[in-house]
Amino acid sequence: MSTSLASTPASPAPSRFGYATGLSCRECGQTYPLGSTHACAECFGPLEVRYDYPKLDRAAIEAGPASIWRYASLLPVPPDVATTPNTEPGWTRLVHAQQLGRELGLRSLWVKDERANPTHSFKDRVVAVALAAAVELGFKVLACPSTGNLANAVAAAAARAGIRSVVLIPSDLEPQKIIATGVYGGTMVPVEGSYDDVNRLASELADDREDWAFVNVNVRPYYAEGSKTIGFEIAEQLGWRLPEQIVVPVASGAQLVKIDKAFRELVSLGLVEDTPYKVFGAQATGCSPVAEAFRQGHDVVQPVRPATIAKSLAIGNPADGPYVLDVVRRTGGVVADVDDDAVVSAMRLLAATEGIFGETAGGVTLGVLRSLLASGQLDPDAETVIINSGDGLKTLDAVAGGLNTSPAIRPTLDAFLAFEASQGGPGGDQPL
Ligand SMILES: *Cc1c(COP(=O)(O)O)cnc(C)c1O
Ligand SMILES: [Zn+2]
Repeated sequence: MSTSLASTPASPAPSRFGYATGLSCRECGQTYPLGSTHACAECFGPLEVRYDYPKLDRAAIEAGPASIWRYASLLPVPPDVATTPNTEPGWTRLVHAQQLGRELGLRSLWVKDERANPTHSFKDRVVAVALAAAVELGFKVLACPSTGNLANAVAAAAARAGIRSVVLIPSDLEPQKIIATGVYGGTMVPVEGSYDDVNRLASELADDREDWAFVNVNVRPYYAEGSKTIGFEIAEQLGWRLPEQIVVPVASGAQLVKIDKAFRELVSLGLVEDTPYKVFGAQATGCSPVAEAFRQGHDVVQPVRPATIAKSLAIGNPADGPYVLDVVRRTGGVVADVDDDAVVSAMRLLAATEGIFGETAGGVTLGVLRSLLASGQLDPDAETVIINSGDGLKTLDAVAGGLNTSPAIRPTLDAFLAFEASQGGPGGDQPL
């Protein structure tokens, strides 16, 4: 065809990284070609993926696969990503939590439940995007330092893609997370020390091993983009609109920052209306450097040594901490923390009201929601979304202690009635 379209700008053509066109420094704006650079050569600032966005409509997205790949054209991945070996995370349920909402006095509450991902946490999203980009960049090994869930996701995705994985974990992780990583058959290296020690070792290794893609280190700009898909899904599942309040757990802070980026991309692409929303960050008191900086009104985050049962959030020196502060302050939210008792109580409440057994990170998020409602910093009349980012089966010890496990009874009606009476239930002579 020889048509001239001088008056309408041509839709950009996708490359092997889709509509991504390069990387840019989040601090000074310096731009770089798509590659495995992750820090700015000018100022050491972190790099972020830039796009020449295609024209998109809701129908095109709705016709896509029931996974994160329905948003492939807003990610730095090859156009044929949905047909190459990778896990297919995403399109998890957005649960209308009416019982929990009633319990808390919230008019409209939703729980984005990330347990249904292939390895039962939101980390499968970021790893799937990192893997697709790492393959395009020519890496041969998929690696990471991890607080647990990332190790699960990397080992599984590498197994499915038929490549080698190497994961570095703090040696005191929950046994469930260690088993659920080892089963995939990659290399797992327990390291003495905190996550921040493990992360430092990974950064040194990333410089040393040219063909190892450390998903959250040297391919971090691609990895982090995967978290946008939670934001895209929430908006689409609400019927293509933004919630008024959202509470997000904060470890490195990437998830929170990218959910905000997703909301802004949807607005600028005309896919949702530009309605105001507030982003709230949730941390455990035993590792709350971002909440502390927020309270102090600081722009920099002072590193801490973590001590909390919420191990998946135990990053004492969060890479995206300052950007979390930016997003939360810009949208009018708050970063807050709750102690481990409040985390456990919130895990129980989520399970008992909605049938959702979330992990400690989910308890942190719901705990902070409760606390901010009590202090009047969250509006009970505004539509609110919270993220349950992982599965309670991986953090069993957190709730095992207080459970009412009575000794076994004999298999007779009398024994049952005696048991019931001992529990303060109907007496032995009354029918059930
Ligand atoms: C990693 C993780 C988070 C936090 O993610 P960041 O992007 O590092 O802030 C939250 N919840 C769970 C369950 C996680 O594994
Ligand atoms: Zn820079």
